[in-house]
Formats: sequence, C-alpha cells, structure tokens
Amino acid sequence: MVLGTRTLAQVITAFVLVSVLIALAACASQPGTSAPKSSDAAVSEADSSAEPGPVSSPSSASTVPASPPSPSAASAPTAAAEPSIMYLGQASVRIVTPEGKVIYVDPYAGEDAWYELPADLILVTHAHFDHNGLNRVASRAEGCVTVTQDDAVDGDAHPVFDFGFATVVPVQAGFNALHDVRDCVGYVVELSNGTKAYPTGDTSTTDDMRDGTLAAMHIDYAFWCTDGVYNMGNAEAAEAARMVGAARNIPYHNDTSNSGEMFDRSAAADFAAPNKFVMNPGDEITLK
Ligand SMILES: [Zn+2]
Repeated sequence: MVLGTRTLAQVITAFVLVSVLIALAACASQPGTSAPKSSDAAVSEADSSAEPGPVSSPSSASTVPASPPSPSAASAPTAAAEPSIMYLGQASVRIVTPEGKVIYVDPYAGEDAWYELPADLILVTHAHFDHNGLNRVASRAEGCVTVTQDDAVDGDAHPVFDFGFATVVPVQAGFNALHDVRDCVGYVVELSNGTKAYPTGDTSTTDDMRDGTLAAMHIDYAFWCTDGVYNMGNAEAAEAARMVGAARNIPYHNDTSNSGEMFDRSAAADFAAPNKFVMNPGDEITLK
C-alpha cells in the first residue's frame, strides 16, 4: 500500500514534471515559431508593400511607354480614316491629317458620330457659343491641344503654331459690329502634304484678304462665313473669295434660322464665288 502510494506519488510527480516540461517546451517553441512566422509575414508584407512601389513604378513606367500604344490604339480607328476634310454644319469642320491626326475647328454643329475620332487639336476662332462647343469633342487623344483666339491673337500679331502634323497660321477675322479683330481669328491650317484649309471664322472682309496676305498662301479649301446678318453675306464673301483665290470656295455659317440644320442650302446656292464648292453637313472631302 505504502509502496503503491509512493509509486502513485512518483507517477503523479513524473506526470506533473513531464507536463511542465511539455508546457515549457511548448511555451518556448511557440514564441520561437510564431516570431519567425510573423516576421516572415512582416517581411513579405513589407516586400509586397514595397513591391507595389517598384512594381507599380515599372508598370507606370511601362504605362508611359505603353501610352504610345494607347494613342496608336486610339489612332487605330483614326488610321482607318482617310485624310479628309469634313463639314459638320455651322462653322464646324473636322480635318484628318495624312498622319491620322484629328483636328476640330469650331466644334458645335453636327452629329455625335462625327466627333467620335479622338481629337489631337481643337481650334476655336472666337468665344461665341456656336464656335466654342468644346463639350462636343467627347473623345480626345493624349496630349490634345486646344488653341483659341486668346492664344492666337497677340496685339496686332498672330503667333504661328507648328504641331508637326499641321502648321496653324491664325489670320484676321472680325471687322464688323459683333466681331472685333482683337477677339476673333480665322485659321489657315497647312497639313504635312501641303494641303491648306482656311475656315474664316466669323468675319467681314479683312485687311488680310484685301492686302494679298491670304492670296499669297495659296489656299486649297476656304470656308466662307456668309450669313449676311452678323457677318458678311454671299455677295461680300464672294468678292473676298476673289481676292483670296482659293482652289475651292465653300460657303458655311449661313443659317440664321436656328432650325437645327445649321446649314442653308438655298443660301449656299446663291453664293457666287469662283471655284465654288458646296458641302452639306456630313460631306467629306478625301485628301490625296
Ligand atoms: Zn458664329
């Protein structure tokens, strides 16, 4: 019995000792294992939190080089478009250059689809609402530039803008009660293939027309403002067209009815300029 009790006591003692040792071993090992684990986790989190930096900066760096793909992806539909000049209504004109660059002049009139090509350049002749509908240009290529009369008039001078795919020469516009030459311009847009388009903007006869400045530029496509209410009408515009001598004289900005059509075919029929060429909204000239 005594021995048995002793044996039991020894067994219990041994059991307690073993339990304590196991518990100690467990306590010793748990911090040991959990510490490396948590520090591994911290390191890997630190690595992964550090990685977004290095990873994202290469990836953002590759996004920047990847941005040429994105313009060229954006210019994929553009590249499919022929070099062209499209009349959109009122004073709105779209030009696609031989490089596939897209220029909108006085965005305002026309169907949404005519503004789908992403803009590389937007030209505004003056601040009136029917020339300044920048919200019509919903799609813009990266680096799209807008030039307005504020950029294009410098006192009596007009700075020239060279975009590589086009040279933009602002010229006088105005010379009537609602259009001051200091707040209005026309643009002669010369493309890389030598084609020159000249939307007059809102104007009556200008000194640039009278003094041979524009004739010396050998313009291919002149768009003549011909409303006869706010600006010169058909007769004055036809005379100005004779002064300038463009290869094609296209009447535009001739609908004062606010019909929504933004082009008056009968007024266009009465435009008696040499080399007259009538474009209806949506018509497009393909450039060779
Ligand atoms: Zn106008």
